[in-house]
Amino acid sequence: MTRPRFAFLAALLASALPAQQTISDGVTSPLRAGANQTKATRVNEAIFQAIGFGNTMMVVTSEGNVIIDTSIANQAERNKKLLRAENAGPVKYIILTHAHGDHTGGVRLWKQDGTQVIAQKNHVEFVNYQTRLSGFFVRRNAAQFAMPVPQARPWPGNYGAKIEPAILFDDRYDFTLGGVGFEIYHTPGETPDHATVWIPKYRAALVGDNYYESFPNMYTLRGTEPRPALDYINSLNKVLALKPEIVIPSHGAPIHGNAEITRRLTRYRDAIQYVHDAVIKGMNEGKDVFALMREIKLPAKLEVGESYGRLTWSIRGIYEGYAGWFDGNPATMYETPASSAFPDLVKLAGGPDRVAELAMERVKAGQFVESLHLTAGALSADPRHSKALEVRLTALKALRERSHNSNERGWLDHAILGIQK
Ligand SMILES: [Zn+2]
Repeated sequence: MTRPRFAFLAALLASALPAQQTISDGVTSPLRAGANQTKATRVNEAIFQAIGFGNTMMVVTSEGNVIIDTSIANQAERNKKLLRAENAGPVKYIILTHAHGDHTGGVRLWKQDGTQVIAQKNHVEFVNYQTRLSGFFVRRNAAQFAMPVPQARPWPGNYGAKIEPAILFDDRYDFTLGGVGFEIYHTPGETPDHATVWIPKYRAALVGDNYYESFPNMYTLRGTEPRPALDYINSLNKVLALKPEIVIPSHGAPIHGNAEITRRLTRYRDAIQYVHDAVIKGMNEGKDVFALMREIKLPAKLEVGESYGRLTWSIRGIYEGYAGWFDGNPATMYETPASSAFPDLVKLAGGPDRVAELAMERVKAGQFVESLHLTAGALSADPRHSKALEVRLTALKALRERSHNSNERGWLDHAILGIQK
């Protein structure tokens, strides 16, 4: 059965990527990560890496090769070419660290007669979840990555996804190829189906997206089920306990040497633990989510950058992951949102002109988000109010200019384009 194009596009876009790759090489779109790579990275004598919107790794053995992750569909061909130039042996196994589209996009391209595809068993529900909501995710992904919205196809149903892996494991799966042992562990974190590939011979751990060079995207703006912080922590501990000499993430460059790996992964783990525990403490003390988003800051020694995930989004993700959407405000129990009062408030304030003027004052004071809220009020009274739109555009551009986070920039670009249309 051919996979519906609609589902394919959702899977293609339903992905995660640290902006490190994009910011450091000056490439604007994360979709162009690795575009300048002309030769695969040689990680060691047997492991090669092609960089992309999702890296692809190849482990060479005397009896054939193992591919770990296959990148996004439109980059898979390039990654394959780079890796095949290093070794064109038969592809015996494809291992998927998880079911996001920037890891699964090239499965069918790499698959040969007799290739076995391996994933953790939660892969099945995760792919169905992405496919079930493909109409939602194509829009949200298009916004996040400032791309046009692809045309939607008919809903494929709740369980309509094409499942590529034939080997689905629970906690662990081992095999040997050409005398090289492979151990695959279930390490949930960014997704419930996350897997880490451990190759004892090379002391190499391939960790998928559970580690990259930014605070993790524990809540992604395109929408996600909760990504439990304690899962990340337990899985990072599992990787640390292996005492790897090489860690290969599916975004960004490999890390060599156990001392450096321990330093980086420990700091990453402790940063997640710090934020998680601070949220729990605040929740137990009766604090609301916005107070915690403002209050919780990482100590300097735990700072890991926020070029992809952001602390505040993770704080809210953890809070609402545990508690859900109800905030204790009785008005929130009902289907009438706070914005239903905006037109009345704007009227009381003297109309949208007055509110737009105030919004401009907020912009001048550097209160760009307050300005967005005020212009939302003015526009609720008059959706085409030109002054309010102009001020809103100025605030959005100011936020865009100050942002060093690729996801934030994507959504700001999306909003800017929406006004400029
Ligand atoms: Zn990814």
